[in-house]
Amino acid sequence: MMARMPLIAGNWKMYKTVPEAVETAGALVQRLADYDESAQVMIAPPFTALAALSRVLEGSPVALGAQNLFWEKEGAFTGEISGPMLVSAGCRFVLIGHSERRQYFGEIDETVCKRVRAALDAGLIPVVCIGETESQRDAGETFSILDKQLSNGLKDIVLVLNDPAKWAVAYEPVWAIGTGKTATSAQAQEVHSFVREWVAKAVGQTTADGLRILYGGSVKPGNIAELMAMPDVDGALVGGASLDPETFEKIIRYQKS
Ligand code: PEP
Repeated sequence: MMARMPLIAGNWKMYKTVPEAVETAGALVQRLADYDESAQVMIAPPFTALAALSRVLEGSPVALGAQNLFWEKEGAFTGEISGPMLVSAGCRFVLIGHSERRQYFGEIDETVCKRVRAALDAGLIPVVCIGETESQRDAGETFSILDKQLSNGLKDIVLVLNDPAKWAVAYEPVWAIGTGKTATSAQAQEVHSFVREWVAKAVGQTTADGLRILYGGSVKPGNIAELMAMPDVDGALVGGASLDPETFEKIIRYQKS
């Protein structure tokens, strides 16, 4: 099986002004000065901090990502940000379909699909977020919901997804995001292996073997190592715990903690 370089990603959500973001990112870069780069690291600050952080992160092991993008390249779309704009601000990654977008901003699988295509067209690495709610899990619908999110969210684009370095999936059970409730490592592994099998069937085994599937949902220094020990967990999407450089560093250096 192909070795997969772990990806530890921080989602800063709607936190930090530009000076706060610069200070936090600068502190993280300092803390990672001797980092052996055993994992790839990415942070996704608010749009307003992207350009400033691209300068702070230059030459560091931390890549820049955005939290969303619009699917058109440019036009009369007040308030939206396009893929080429994110690239010009220094982004390499973009989160797509985060559950908070789905919950509060009308994101649906069909718009996820348009955004993924736009990200790929712009040369950005989309991190496609999927996950079931607590009531869906309780009703035994976890796998059917994830199947629907993947089938519709990646519809018609499977042919351009064959290079596993060009995208990633984040499994984020909605009931675990910001709640302090983490999926057990066994629950995460069960879903991650389902996702990998889905990708193998839809795109191909080589893609599935190389694809990074991140876990997200209350990841902390105390649970990262156990999650990462699972064979199909290839990284983490970290919300709250990525806002503090010391805490995020501990997560990034999970092997040693
Ligand atoms: C997230 O924002 O994707 C997330 C998983 O948040 P938290 O780590 O705070 O649960």
